Amino acid sequence: MCFATAAQASASDCPATPKVLIDATGGPTIGTMQYKNGGGLKHKEIALTFDDGPNPDVTPRILDILDKHCIKATFFLVGIYADARPDLVREIARRGHTIGTHTYTHPDNLRHLSLKAAKSQITRGFAAVRNALADAPYAERQALAPFFRFPGLNDSKPLIAWLGAQDIATLSCSFGADDWKPVSSNAIYARGLSAIQSEGRGILILHDTKSRTADMLSRFIVTLEKRGYSFVQLAPKSPNPTLADTSPNMRTSLP
Ligand SMILES: [Zn+2]
Repeated sequence: MCFATAAQASASDCPATPKVLIDATGGPTIGTMQYKNGGGLKHKEIALTFDDGPNPDVTPRILDILDKHCIKATFFLVGIYADARPDLVREIARRGHTIGTHTYTHPDNLRHLSLKAAKSQITRGFAAVRNALADAPYAERQALAPFFRFPGLNDSKPLIAWLGAQDIATLSCSFGADDWKPVSSNAIYARGLSAIQSEGRGILILHDTKSRTADMLSRFIVTLEKRGYSFVQLAPKSPNPTLADTSPNMRTSLP
């Protein structure tokens, strides 16, 4: 995989994206679309999040656009795609973004699985990302945060409790931009802006599997900045030692 060196060079000149630190102890639920806790973002602060990757066609485009605008985001990766393209997982980490997970094969609703199968989906999702980062430098392995997002945002109380027992936070969002629907790039742009304007702050959910999202992203960022918004990066308050462990024991103990 060849990545543009120009984008890398400009990214190194960027001011740091301010971080919103999330204490994952006890597994808080975050994101005002579903929960009371908005994550602590201030007025006019936006956290960009991208689900369902890594995607060989779209993720590199999104990474270059984020570098161009000096923004760090959070990627909620799907295990099978991380297994297929560990180089993309490492590239997301190398460029300084936060990585959460989003199950192993993205079943649309974990409530429809047995508890055992749902837990396996979550565990294998984290394991895939951890394995992809196993040979990366320490700082890049730390990109894997104790953040989980339910596919379709279809959460369940027993799973939230189980995640909480492992100090993994459930990350929902404040709003979306309908980019998972078959709508135009312009519609995503307009719906995203409208949602943000009505809330004034929050966590935006997008998808780095959709070229229509990459098509509008640069213009979307410029418009938000013109309107006085700034971008923040969701990050864990402290690293999760279990998730950072890439020892052979951890790998073989997985289901
Ligand atoms: Zn998803």
